[in-house]
Amino acid sequence: MDIGSVLGLILELNFSNDQFLNPFLYTFRANIFQLKKGKKPYSIFKFKCPRCHEGDLFPTRIMEFTKFFDMNKRCSYCNLHFTPEPGFYYGAMFISYIITAIFFLAFVGVFILVFGFGVNQTLASLFFVTCILFVYIFRLSRSIWINMMIHYNQAKVDEVAAAKHIKD
Ligand SMILES: [Zn+2]
Repeated sequence: MDIGSVLGLILELNFSNDQFLNPFLYTFRANIFQLKKGKKPYSIFKFKCPRCHEGDLFPTRIMEFTKFFDMNKRCSYCNLHFTPEPGFYYGAMFISYIITAIFFLAFVGVFILVFGFGVNQTLASLFFVTCILFVYIFRLSRSIWINMMIHYNQAKVDEVAAAKHIKD
């Protein structure tokens, strides 16, 4: 992970999904991460259902500071089960380790080598930042994991859209 990605994570955390409040930033990020519906980064970074890219994986936004670790049971749009089997997310822990390790190394490297912080100052800053980023990394790992297992399905999206159309 390079500095751009770390910054991206922080921006994502701070500004959430509010494209109206911050159109410039949204466009900037959309270009970097190719946040287009139907592409993996869209579903991963916006915490959307991997199959239809419509429903949310989590019931709350990170900045709401509630129900950090709760996940929706099913997709509100296409009804995909987000936990297809018990222990499905064990693998997400390894992704979480990898992200955390890379982040720690990058953080310590930048603070000591670039900003010239001492080791104690760096570790204190790292602790503080980690407390904030912990939830984000937890959610991101799960989002990456389910996206590795389940892929976007245009046919399913069309099917659901047609069914909703008939109902209306
Ligand atoms: Zn869905």
